[in-house]
Amino acid sequence: MADAAFVTHRGGCHCRRVRFEVEAPAALLVQECNCSLCRMSGFHHLIVPAARFRLLSGDADLSEYTFNTGVAKHRFCRVCGVKSFYIPRSNPDGVDVNARCLDDGTVESLTIEPFDGQNWESNAASLAQLTLKEGPWARSVRPRAASYKSERAINPAACGSVGSRWSAAARR
Ligand SMILES: [Zn+2]
Repeated sequence: MADAAFVTHRGGCHCRRVRFEVEAPAALLVQECNCSLCRMSGFHHLIVPAARFRLLSGDADLSEYTFNTGVAKHRFCRVCGVKSFYIPRSNPDGVDVNARCLDDGTVESLTIEPFDGQNWESNAASLAQLTLKEGPWARSVRPRAASYKSERAINPAACGSVGSRWSAAARR
């Protein structure tokens, strides 16, 4: 049942065996995480309640990878290797869609906010509300997100410098 404020985005893996629908705003707010896995895969996290996600095809082609606590179920296509969605440790009652894997046409804008997954225990609580009924659309995140965006806008290389700063913090 799509809320009036939501649109139905479609997406999936590269070989198109895995296909899904997800209900979310047209203007997306996503998290970019710097944890050991996400920094490698470049996943843009769109976390939604499970009821807003429907797997259309590809269930038999999904392989699962787990590490650390084993709570997160990292599901990737065994044919093309792309992880287009998974069950996140922060919201095991929801689904985490990779916004990079959404089809063209329904995403009006994408606002990226950094999530410090290297210090997951201190920060994960901020994600729990994403699968509550009100969802992230109820919270005000614009100021943080805007400052992150403007940093990128002023200096295209800032994108890399954000990463380097996080990396530097990680090595400490
Ligand atoms: Zn695939």
